[in-house]
Amino acid sequence: MTAFRTLDQADVKGKRVLVRVDLNVPMENGRVTDATRIERVLPTIREIADKGGKVILLAHFGRPKGRDLKESLKPVAEAVSKHLGKTIAFADDCIGEGAAQAVDALKDGDVLLLENTRFHAGEEKNDPAFVQELAKLGDLYVNDAFSAAHRAHASTEGLARVLPAYAGRTMQQELDALTKGLEAPKRPVVAIVGGAKVSTKIDLLENLVTKVDALVIGGGMANTFVHATGLGIGKSLAEKDLAATAMRIIEKARASNCAIILPVDGVCAYEFKAGAVNHTYGIDAIPEDQMILDVGSQSVERISAAINDAATLVWNGPLGAFEIAPFDQGTVAAARHAAQRTREGKLVSVAGGGDTVAALNHAGVADDFSYVSTAGGAFLEWLEGKSLPGVEALRA
Ligand code: AMP
Repeated sequence: MTAFRTLDQADVKGKRVLVRVDLNVPMENGRVTDATRIERVLPTIREIADKGGKVILLAHFGRPKGRDLKESLKPVAEAVSKHLGKTIAFADDCIGEGAAQAVDALKDGDVLLLENTRFHAGEEKNDPAFVQELAKLGDLYVNDAFSAAHRAHASTEGLARVLPAYAGRTMQQELDALTKGLEAPKRPVVAIVGGAKVSTKIDLLENLVTKVDALVIGGGMANTFVHATGLGIGKSLAEKDLAATAMRIIEKARASNCAIILPVDGVCAYEFKAGAVNHTYGIDAIPEDQMILDVGSQSVERISAAINDAATLVWNGPLGAFEIAPFDQGTVAAARHAAQRTREGKLVSVAGGGDTVAALNHAGVADDFSYVSTAGGAFLEWLEGKSLPGVEALRA
């Protein structure tokens, strides 16, 4: 179903395959503290190696300005070896003589990780000369790093223009999920957008109202909308200067036949603190000296009903301050409801972006969603309707 070239079309046997992966893993004292990203790229590495390809991994790490060994991928190579179950080689530069020798030394099925691509300014500039240096090292190019696909860098976009290019399995899975979520979804589609601020999600909201049948707005950003409709929100987090923007989004939704579902009640407290004394009030009766920290139970019922009406759900952002109990309850209840509908085969649920993964993990349901994207910026840009250069370059 995918409109992208995938590993199914690639003949990798005996070939040098440059594979762009996301190994920008969290590290402390030279040790990887969360191996999720490593786990995600193993299927593609294994498949190419099993088919007799020479796997040459390309990745960035951190934001170095030039060569800076504090941001070396060497410790990550050790972690990849451990998770892969076989030793991989490492070259201390991604271009030049050393890299070429390391590639020449590879036998079919071997794996090599090249040093941080961002040690060279040509990476982020997508400099054609740097692209050519990288391209010399491979016969084919596979991109398995959706999370870096919103950047037109040498290793994410440039290479796809000069070598035969394919999506890796993780990239393919992500693209299939995103297509089912918004590009060719089963209708009706409902989107849930929460999180702290409207200002970071204006493009996203404007795009979604033209594509989905109903948009649930929760979290701190809902306060700005509630304020814009003329109601008091007490001391709640809000961007009152964005009231006109909120009204414009509501108008655009109306013109696009998208229902906007705002909270009808809010769980309020005097302070932003775990365990703070709290009460639930109707949205037209928020006390002046309190702040809304979560959606109330009637809002949750309304959101659950919207989920029941939907065939597809796209979710970004928590419905309340989910890190501090008990203000996690709205997010947890809605997430569990969506998970149950998904398990029953009644809902395709796609979630992602920043805190959303943490919120779904907190609710214990991340594995029950149809797809949870760990790609922060790339997932958000896709929700904004922007084309991602790294993805565009893989179109069949
Ligand atoms: P974002 O990164 O935009 O998805 O925002 C996530 C953050 O929004 C989380 O840290 C939540 O604690 C915060 N948040 C959600 N709802 C509220 C609220 N009603 N008041 C204050 N912060 C909130």
